[in-house]
Amino acid sequence: MLSVEEALQKILDEIDILEEETVPILESLGQVLAGDIKSDINVPPLDNSAMDGYAVISQDTIGASEKTPRFLRVIDTVMAGSISRKEVVPGTAVRIMTGAPVPGGADAVVQFENTDDEKHKKSTPDKPITRAGILSEAKSGLNIRRVGEDIAKGAMALKKGTVIRAAEIGLMASLGYGRVKVIRRPVVAILSTGNELVEIDKPLPEGKIHNSNGYSIASLVKRYGFIPKVLGIARDDEEELLGKLKEAQDADMLLTTGGVSMGDYDIVKDIIARDGELVFWKVRVKPGKPLAFGKIKGKDKIIPHLGLPGNAVSCMVSFELFVRPALMKMMGKKNFDKPTIEVILEDTVINNAGRRLYDRAVIERRNGHYYARLTGSQSSGILTSMSLANGLVIIPEDSKKVNKGDTVRALMLDWNEEVNI
Ligand code: AMP
Ligand code: MG
Repeated sequence: MLSVEEALQKILDEIDILEEETVPILESLGQVLAGDIKSDINVPPLDNSAMDGYAVISQDTIGASEKTPRFLRVIDTVMAGSISRKEVVPGTAVRIMTGAPVPGGADAVVQFENTDDEKHKKSTPDKPITRAGILSEAKSGLNIRRVGEDIAKGAMALKKGTVIRAAEIGLMASLGYGRVKVIRRPVVAILSTGNELVEIDKPLPEGKIHNSNGYSIASLVKRYGFIPKVLGIARDDEEELLGKLKEAQDADMLLTTGGVSMGDYDIVKDIIARDGELVFWKVRVKPGKPLAFGKIKGKDKIIPHLGLPGNAVSCMVSFELFVRPALMKMMGKKNFDKPTIEVILEDTVINNAGRRLYDRAVIERRNGHYYARLTGSQSSGILTSMSLANGLVIIPEDSKKVNKGDTVRALMLDWNEEVNI
Protein backbone atom coordinates (compact mmCIF):
# COMPACT_ATOMS: atom_id res chain seq x y z
CA MET A 1 0.00 0.00 0.00
CA LEU A 2 1.26 3.46 -0.85
CA SER A 3 2.21 5.98 1.82
CA VAL A 4 0.47 9.36 1.84
CA GLU A 5 3.53 10.97 0.23
CA GLU A 6 3.83 8.31 -2.47
CA ALA A 7 0.16 8.51 -3.32
CA LEU A 8 0.24 12.31 -3.47
CA GLN A 9 3.31 12.23 -5.72
CA LYS A 10 1.62 9.81 -8.09
CA ILE A 11 -1.34 12.15 -8.32
CA LEU A 12 0.74 15.30 -8.78
CA ASP A 13 2.78 13.59 -11.52
CA GLU A 14 -0.39 13.34 -13.60
CA ILE A 15 -1.56 16.92 -13.08
CA ASP A 16 -0.94 19.63 -15.66
CA ILE A 17 -1.21 23.34 -15.06
CA LEU A 18 -4.30 24.79 -16.73
CA GLU A 19 -4.41 27.51 -19.39
CA GLU A 20 -4.47 31.25 -18.87
CA GLU A 21 -7.52 33.46 -18.78
CA THR A 22 -8.02 37.20 -18.43
CA VAL A 23 -10.37 38.26 -15.67
CA PRO A 24 -11.41 41.48 -13.89
CA ILE A 25 -8.93 41.99 -11.04
CA LEU A 26 -11.56 41.49 -8.34
CA GLU A 27 -12.27 38.00 -9.64
CA SER A 28 -8.61 37.02 -9.53
CA LEU A 29 -8.39 36.68 -5.74
CA GLY A 30 -6.46 33.48 -4.98
CA GLN A 31 -5.43 32.89 -8.60
CA VAL A 32 -1.87 32.83 -9.91
CA LEU A 33 -0.45 35.55 -12.16
CA ALA A 34 0.28 34.19 -15.64
CA GLY A 35 2.72 36.97 -16.57
CA ASP A 36 4.87 39.70 -15.04
CA ILE A 37 3.24 43.04 -14.38
CA LYS A 38 5.32 46.13 -15.01
CA SER A 39 4.27 49.61 -14.06
CA ASP A 40 3.45 52.18 -16.76
CA ILE A 41 3.35 54.93 -14.16
CA ASN A 42 5.05 56.22 -11.05
CA VAL A 43 3.28 55.41 -7.79
CA PRO A 44 2.98 57.93 -6.20
CA PRO A 45 2.90 60.12 -9.30
CA LEU A 46 4.59 63.13 -7.62
CA ASP A 47 6.43 64.00 -4.40
CA ASN A 48 3.62 64.41 -1.89
CA SER A 49 3.00 65.07 1.74
CA ALA A 50 2.76 62.25 4.29
CA MET A 51 1.15 64.61 6.81
CA ASP A 52 -1.27 67.48 7.19
CA GLY A 53 0.96 70.48 7.85
CA TYR A 54 3.07 73.14 6.20
CA ALA A 55 5.34 72.71 3.20
CA VAL A 56 8.45 74.70 4.04
CA ILE A 57 12.06 75.27 3.14
CA SER A 58 13.94 73.29 5.80
CA GLN A 59 16.57 76.05 6.14
CA ASP A 60 13.79 78.36 7.38
CA THR A 61 13.13 76.11 10.37
CA ILE A 62 16.64 76.14 11.82
CA GLY A 63 16.43 76.98 15.52
CA ALA A 64 12.64 76.58 15.63
CA SER A 65 11.25 75.39 18.98
CA GLU A 66 8.23 75.88 21.25
CA LYS A 67 9.98 78.82 22.80
CA THR A 68 11.46 80.25 19.61
CA PRO A 69 8.89 79.76 16.84
CA ARG A 70 9.91 80.59 13.30
CA PHE A 71 7.08 82.49 11.69
CA LEU A 72 6.36 81.98 8.00
CA ARG A 73 3.90 83.73 5.70
CA VAL A 74 1.24 81.29 4.41
CA ILE A 75 0.84 81.82 0.67
CA ASP A 76 -1.50 79.01 -0.37
CA THR A 77 -3.43 75.91 0.72
CA VAL A 78 -3.24 72.66 -1.24
CA MET A 79 -5.32 69.54 -0.76
CA ALA A 80 -4.88 66.00 -2.05
CA GLY A 81 -5.73 65.87 -5.73
CA SER A 82 -4.82 69.51 -6.39
CA ILE A 83 -1.61 71.24 -7.39
CA SER A 84 -0.34 74.49 -5.88
CA ARG A 85 1.08 76.78 -8.56
CA LYS A 86 2.80 78.87 -5.87
CA GLU A 87 6.55 78.62 -5.31
CA VAL A 88 7.67 78.42 -1.68
CA VAL A 89 10.39 81.04 -1.24
CA PRO A 90 12.34 81.84 1.95
CA GLY A 91 10.03 83.09 4.68
CA THR A 92 6.89 81.45 3.22
CA ALA A 93 4.98 78.21 3.58
CA VAL A 94 2.04 76.43 1.92
CA ARG A 95 -0.62 74.69 4.00
CA ILE A 96 -0.66 71.14 2.71
CA MET A 97 -2.91 68.13 3.31
CA THR A 98 -1.83 64.48 3.29
CA GLY A 99 -1.36 63.19 -0.24
CA ALA A 100 -1.17 66.65 -1.83
CA PRO A 101 1.79 67.24 -4.16
CA VAL A 102 4.61 69.21 -2.54
CA PRO A 103 4.77 72.70 -4.07
CA GLY A 104 7.90 73.93 -5.84
CA GLY A 105 10.63 75.30 -3.59
CA ALA A 106 9.60 73.35 -0.48
CA ASP A 107 11.76 70.46 0.72
CA ALA A 108 10.00 69.42 3.95
CA VAL A 109 6.61 69.27 5.57
CA VAL A 110 6.10 70.22 9.22
CA GLN A 111 3.03 68.48 10.62
CA PHE A 112 0.38 70.67 12.25
CA GLU A 113 1.17 69.15 15.65
CA ASN A 114 4.60 70.87 15.49
CA THR A 115 3.21 74.27 14.58
CA ASP A 116 1.06 76.81 16.40
CA ASP A 117 -1.73 75.81 14.04
CA GLU A 118 -3.67 73.70 16.51
CA LYS A 119 -5.02 76.92 17.98
CA HIS A 120 -6.23 78.14 14.60
CA LYS A 121 -7.95 74.90 13.67
CA LYS A 122 -9.19 75.33 10.11
CA SER A 123 -8.22 77.80 7.42
CA THR A 124 -11.38 78.95 5.61
CA PRO A 125 -11.74 81.35 2.65
CA ASP A 126 -13.34 84.05 4.83
CA LYS A 127 -10.84 83.51 7.69
CA PRO A 128 -7.67 82.32 6.01
CA ILE A 129 -4.58 81.59 8.04
CA THR A 130 -1.87 83.94 6.94
CA ARG A 131 0.91 83.11 9.36
CA ALA A 132 2.31 79.82 10.66
CA GLY A 133 4.56 79.44 13.71
CA ILE A 134 6.92 76.51 13.20
CA LEU A 135 7.84 74.92 16.56
CA SER A 136 10.43 72.33 15.55
CA GLU A 137 13.28 71.98 13.10
CA ALA A 138 12.57 70.04 9.93
CA LYS A 139 15.27 68.11 8.09
CA SER A 140 15.20 68.24 4.33
CA GLY A 141 12.83 65.50 3.07
CA LEU A 142 10.82 65.30 6.29
CA ASN A 143 7.29 63.92 5.69
CA ILE A 144 7.72 63.85 1.93
CA ARG A 145 6.75 60.69 0.04
CA ARG A 146 8.91 60.56 -3.05
CA VAL A 147 7.63 60.14 -6.59
CA GLY A 148 7.76 56.44 -7.55
CA GLU A 149 8.84 55.32 -4.06
CA ASP A 150 6.17 52.59 -4.08
CA ILE A 151 6.71 51.57 -7.72
CA ALA A 152 8.79 53.44 -10.25
CA LYS A 153 7.61 53.71 -13.85
CA GLY A 154 8.93 50.72 -15.82
CA ALA A 155 9.71 48.68 -12.70
CA MET A 156 8.47 45.14 -12.06
CA ALA A 157 5.44 45.37 -9.84
CA LEU A 158 4.35 41.73 -9.62
CA LYS A 159 6.10 38.60 -10.84
CA LYS A 160 4.55 35.79 -12.84
CA GLY A 161 3.59 33.00 -10.44
CA THR A 162 2.52 35.35 -7.64
CA VAL A 163 -0.59 34.21 -5.78
CA ILE A 164 -3.01 37.11 -5.83
CA ARG A 165 -4.19 38.36 -2.45
CA ALA A 166 -5.93 41.57 -1.43
CA ALA A 167 -2.65 43.50 -1.46
CA GLU A 168 -1.87 42.43 -5.04
CA ILE A 169 -5.36 43.40 -6.18
CA GLY A 170 -4.86 46.81 -4.56
CA LEU A 171 -1.48 47.11 -6.23
CA MET A 172 -2.91 46.30 -9.66
CA ALA A 173 -5.65 48.86 -9.06
CA SER A 174 -3.05 51.49 -8.12
CA LEU A 175 -1.32 50.82 -11.45
CA GLY A 176 -4.61 51.21 -13.28
CA TYR A 177 -5.03 47.60 -14.34
CA GLY A 178 -8.68 46.55 -14.48
CA ARG A 179 -8.05 43.06 -15.84
CA VAL A 180 -5.31 40.54 -15.26
CA LYS A 181 -3.99 37.41 -16.92
CA VAL A 182 -4.10 34.42 -14.55
CA ILE A 183 -4.16 30.62 -14.60
CA ARG A 184 -7.81 29.65 -14.71
CA ARG A 185 -9.63 27.90 -11.90
CA PRO A 186 -10.28 24.17 -12.34
CA VAL A 187 -13.85 22.98 -12.80
CA VAL A 188 -14.43 19.99 -10.55
CA ALA A 189 -17.23 17.53 -11.27
CA ILE A 190 -18.61 15.94 -8.11
CA LEU A 191 -20.68 12.77 -8.20
CA SER A 192 -22.04 10.96 -5.14
CA THR A 193 -22.56 7.23 -5.65
CA GLY A 194 -24.69 4.86 -3.64
CA ASN A 195 -28.11 3.19 -3.71
CA GLU A 196 -28.73 4.46 -0.19
CA LEU A 197 -28.48 8.14 -1.12
CA VAL A 198 -31.39 10.55 -1.24
CA GLU A 199 -31.22 14.26 -2.10
CA ILE A 200 -31.60 16.68 0.78
CA ASP A 201 -34.99 18.00 -0.30
CA LYS A 202 -36.58 14.54 -0.43
CA PRO A 203 -38.05 12.58 2.52
CA LEU A 204 -35.96 9.66 3.74
CA PRO A 205 -37.44 6.23 3.01
CA GLU A 206 -36.43 3.44 5.37
CA GLY A 207 -32.79 2.49 5.04
CA LYS A 208 -31.79 5.60 3.11
CA ILE A 209 -29.56 8.53 4.07
CA HIS A 210 -29.14 12.03 2.73
CA ASN A 211 -26.32 12.72 0.32
CA SER A 212 -24.03 14.76 2.55
CA ASN A 213 -20.76 14.12 0.72
CA GLY A 214 -21.87 16.00 -2.37
CA TYR A 215 -22.28 19.09 -0.22
CA SER A 216 -19.20 18.83 1.98
CA ILE A 217 -16.97 18.14 -1.01
CA ALA A 218 -18.50 20.91 -3.14
CA SER A 219 -17.93 23.26 -0.20
CA LEU A 220 -14.28 22.30 0.05
CA VAL A 221 -13.96 22.88 -3.70
CA LYS A 222 -15.43 26.36 -3.27
CA ARG A 223 -13.45 27.13 -0.15
CA TYR A 224 -10.15 26.77 -1.97
CA GLY A 225 -11.26 28.77 -4.97
CA PHE A 226 -12.08 26.00 -7.44
CA ILE A 227 -15.36 25.70 -9.33
CA PRO A 228 -17.71 22.87 -8.35
CA LYS A 229 -19.91 21.20 -10.91
CA VAL A 230 -22.32 19.15 -8.84
CA LEU A 231 -23.64 16.10 -10.70
CA GLY A 232 -25.86 14.76 -7.91
CA ILE A 233 -26.34 11.08 -7.19
CA ALA A 234 -25.72 7.92 -9.20
CA ARG A 235 -26.96 4.58 -7.96
CA ASP A 236 -24.55 1.65 -7.83
CA ASP A 237 -25.50 0.70 -11.34
CA GLU A 238 -23.06 0.64 -14.20
CA GLU A 239 -25.36 2.15 -16.78
CA GLU A 240 -26.44 5.00 -14.52
CA LEU A 241 -22.87 5.67 -13.44
CA LEU A 242 -21.60 5.79 -17.02
CA GLY A 243 -24.45 8.12 -17.96
CA LYS A 244 -23.53 10.52 -15.16
CA LEU A 245 -19.82 10.33 -15.94
CA LYS A 246 -20.58 11.74 -19.40
CA GLU A 247 -21.59 14.98 -17.68
CA ALA A 248 -18.08 15.20 -16.26
CA GLN A 249 -16.47 15.15 -19.71
CA ASP A 250 -15.65 18.85 -19.87
CA ALA A 251 -14.51 19.14 -16.25
CA ASP A 252 -10.84 19.39 -15.26
CA MET A 253 -11.16 16.79 -12.52
CA LEU A 254 -13.75 14.23 -11.53
CA LEU A 255 -14.43 13.45 -7.89
CA THR A 256 -16.71 10.60 -6.94
CA THR A 257 -17.55 9.48 -3.44
CA GLY A 258 -18.33 5.91 -2.47
CA GLY A 259 -18.07 2.68 -4.40
CA VAL A 260 -14.33 2.20 -3.93
CA SER A 261 -14.20 -0.29 -1.05
CA MET A 262 -14.51 -4.06 -0.99
CA GLY A 263 -18.31 -4.36 -1.14
CA ASP A 264 -20.31 -6.21 -3.79
CA TYR A 265 -21.59 -2.94 -5.26
CA ASP A 266 -18.37 -0.96 -5.16
CA ILE A 267 -18.09 -0.63 -8.91
CA VAL A 268 -16.44 2.79 -9.29
CA LYS A 269 -12.86 1.56 -9.26
CA ASP A 270 -13.73 -1.32 -11.59
CA ILE A 271 -15.13 1.14 -14.12
CA ILE A 272 -12.02 3.34 -13.91
CA ALA A 273 -9.84 0.26 -14.40
CA ARG A 274 -11.87 -0.97 -17.36
CA ASP A 275 -12.67 2.26 -19.22
CA GLY A 276 -9.74 4.39 -18.13
CA GLU A 277 -6.54 3.76 -16.25
CA LEU A 278 -6.35 2.97 -12.56
CA VAL A 279 -3.09 4.43 -11.24
CA PHE A 280 -3.52 3.25 -7.66
CA TRP A 281 -6.09 2.09 -5.17
CA LYS A 282 -5.62 2.22 -1.38
CA VAL A 283 -3.37 4.40 0.70
CA ARG A 284 -1.76 3.64 4.08
CA VAL A 285 -3.90 6.21 5.87
CA LYS A 286 -6.85 6.28 8.26
CA PRO A 287 -9.41 7.54 7.54
CA GLY A 288 -9.35 7.24 3.77
CA LYS A 289 -7.71 3.93 2.87
CA PRO A 290 -9.89 3.06 -0.13
CA LEU A 291 -8.83 5.98 -2.31
CA ALA A 292 -8.80 5.24 -6.02
CA PHE A 293 -6.89 7.40 -8.46
CA GLY A 294 -7.24 6.99 -12.16
CA LYS A 295 -7.64 8.77 -15.44
CA ILE A 296 -10.70 8.80 -17.63
CA LYS A 297 -11.30 10.09 -21.14
CA GLY A 298 -12.84 13.54 -21.30
CA LYS A 299 -14.08 15.45 -24.32
CA ASP A 300 -10.70 16.66 -25.49
CA LYS A 301 -8.34 15.58 -22.75
CA ILE A 302 -7.68 12.98 -20.11
CA ILE A 303 -9.34 13.84 -16.80
CA PRO A 304 -7.88 12.83 -13.45
CA HIS A 305 -10.47 10.97 -11.40
CA LEU A 306 -10.22 10.66 -7.66
CA GLY A 307 -12.55 8.02 -6.32
CA LEU A 308 -12.96 9.22 -2.75
CA PRO A 309 -14.16 6.87 -0.04
CA GLY A 310 -17.87 7.06 0.78
CA ASN A 311 -17.60 7.66 4.50
CA ALA A 312 -18.40 11.25 5.34
CA VAL A 313 -15.15 11.96 7.19
CA SER A 314 -12.92 9.88 4.94
CA CYS A 315 -13.85 11.74 1.79
CA MET A 316 -13.21 15.12 3.43
CA VAL A 317 -9.81 14.06 4.81
CA SER A 318 -8.87 12.55 1.44
CA PHE A 319 -9.83 15.83 -0.16
CA GLU A 320 -7.54 17.81 2.14
CA LEU A 321 -4.62 15.42 1.70
CA PHE A 322 -4.83 14.61 -2.02
CA VAL A 323 -7.41 16.60 -3.94
CA ARG A 324 -6.61 20.08 -2.65
CA PRO A 325 -2.90 19.86 -3.60
CA ALA A 326 -3.74 18.47 -7.04
CA LEU A 327 -6.20 21.27 -7.78
CA MET A 328 -3.78 23.86 -6.45
CA LYS A 329 -1.18 22.56 -8.87
CA MET A 330 -3.69 22.90 -11.72
CA MET A 331 -4.18 26.52 -10.71
CA GLY A 332 -0.46 27.15 -10.99
CA LYS A 333 0.34 27.18 -7.27
CA LYS A 334 3.63 25.86 -5.94
CA ASN A 335 3.07 25.56 -2.20
CA PHE A 336 0.41 22.97 -1.53
CA ASP A 337 1.05 22.28 2.14
CA LYS A 338 -1.36 23.37 4.77
CA PRO A 339 0.47 24.37 7.93
CA THR A 340 1.29 21.70 10.50
CA ILE A 341 2.18 22.59 14.06
CA GLU A 342 3.48 20.80 17.13
CA VAL A 343 0.76 19.92 19.62
CA ILE A 344 0.64 18.29 23.04
CA LEU A 345 -1.89 15.45 23.04
CA GLU A 346 -4.57 15.51 25.70
CA ASP A 347 -5.70 11.96 24.91
CA THR A 348 -3.88 8.67 24.51
CA VAL A 349 -4.14 7.29 20.97
CA ILE A 350 -3.74 3.64 20.01
CA ASN A 351 -2.83 2.87 16.42
CA ASN A 352 -3.41 -0.77 15.55
CA ALA A 353 -4.02 -0.03 11.88
CA GLY A 354 -0.37 0.21 10.80
CA ARG A 355 -1.51 3.23 8.80
CA ARG A 356 -0.99 6.94 9.40
CA LEU A 357 -3.85 8.31 11.47
CA TYR A 358 -5.35 11.74 10.94
CA ASP A 359 -7.49 12.08 14.05
CA ARG A 360 -9.99 14.91 14.38
CA ALA A 361 -9.09 17.28 17.19
CA VAL A 362 -9.75 20.63 18.74
CA ILE A 363 -6.44 22.41 18.79
CA GLU A 364 -6.05 25.41 21.02
CA ARG A 365 -3.25 27.52 22.36
CA ARG A 366 -2.75 27.80 26.10
CA ASN A 367 0.28 29.14 28.00
CA GLY A 368 2.35 29.35 24.85
CA HIS A 369 1.71 25.75 23.71
CA TYR A 370 -0.80 24.17 21.39
CA TYR A 371 -2.91 21.37 22.88
CA ALA A 372 -4.98 18.84 20.93
CA ARG A 373 -8.02 17.09 22.30
CA LEU A 374 -9.78 14.49 20.16
CA THR A 375 -13.38 15.24 19.20
CA GLY A 376 -14.83 11.93 20.33
CA SER A 377 -15.27 8.80 18.24
CA GLN A 378 -12.87 8.60 15.33
CA SER A 379 -15.17 6.36 13.32
CA SER A 380 -14.97 7.53 9.73
CA GLY A 381 -18.69 8.09 9.33
CA ILE A 382 -19.07 10.48 12.30
CA LEU A 383 -19.35 13.84 10.58
CA THR A 384 -19.93 15.73 13.84
CA SER A 385 -16.39 14.81 14.89
CA MET A 386 -15.20 16.73 11.84
CA SER A 387 -17.51 19.63 12.53
CA LEU A 388 -16.13 20.05 16.04
CA ALA A 389 -12.50 19.83 14.90
CA ASN A 390 -10.17 22.54 13.65
CA GLY A 391 -7.28 20.21 12.91
CA LEU A 392 -6.11 16.65 12.41
CA VAL A 393 -3.47 15.17 14.69
CA ILE A 394 -1.03 13.01 12.79
CA ILE A 395 -0.13 9.68 14.36
CA PRO A 396 2.72 8.01 12.45
CA GLU A 397 2.03 4.62 10.86
CA ASP A 398 4.70 2.94 13.00
CA SER A 399 3.50 4.38 16.34
CA LYS A 400 1.37 1.79 18.11
CA LYS A 401 0.56 4.09 21.00
CA VAL A 402 0.97 7.79 21.62
CA ASN A 403 0.41 8.85 25.20
CA LYS A 404 -1.41 11.76 26.66
CA GLY A 405 1.19 14.50 27.12
CA ASP A 406 3.27 13.39 24.12
CA THR A 407 4.04 15.85 21.34
CA VAL A 408 2.87 15.12 17.80
CA ARG A 409 2.25 17.17 14.68
CA ALA A 410 -1.16 18.39 13.68
CA LEU A 411 -2.46 19.54 10.33
CA MET A 412 -4.43 22.73 10.79
CA LEU A 413 -7.70 22.73 8.86
CA ASP A 414 -8.88 26.03 10.32
CA TRP A 415 -7.47 28.59 12.71
CA ASN A 416 -9.28 30.05 15.66
CA GLU A 417 -10.85 32.91 13.81
CA GLU A 418 -12.93 30.38 11.88
CA VAL A 419 -14.01 28.02 14.67
CA ASN A 420 -15.46 28.40 18.11
CA ILE A 421 -13.33 26.48 20.56
P1 AMP B 1 -19.14 2.89 0.19
O1 AMP B 1 -17.69 3.04 0.11
O2 AMP B 1 -19.85 3.26 -1.05
O3 AMP B 1 -19.51 1.54 0.69
O4 AMP B 1 -19.64 3.93 1.30
C1 AMP B 1 -19.12 3.86 2.61
C2 AMP B 1 -20.07 4.50 3.59
O5 AMP B 1 -20.23 5.87 3.27
C3 AMP B 1 -21.46 3.92 3.60
O6 AMP B 1 -21.91 3.83 4.94
C4 AMP B 1 -22.25 4.93 2.84
O7 AMP B 1 -23.60 4.91 3.20
C5 AMP B 1 -21.60 6.22 3.18
N1 AMP B 1 -21.80 7.17 2.09
C6 AMP B 1 -21.51 6.95 0.81
N2 AMP B 1 -21.81 8.02 0.04
C7 AMP B 1 -22.32 8.95 0.89
C8 AMP B 1 -22.81 10.26 0.68
N3 AMP B 1 -22.84 10.82 -0.52
N4 AMP B 1 -23.23 10.95 1.77
C9 AMP B 1 -23.18 10.38 2.99
N5 AMP B 1 -22.71 9.14 3.22
C10 AMP B 1 -22.30 8.40 2.19
MG1 MG C 1 -21.57 2.75 -1.81
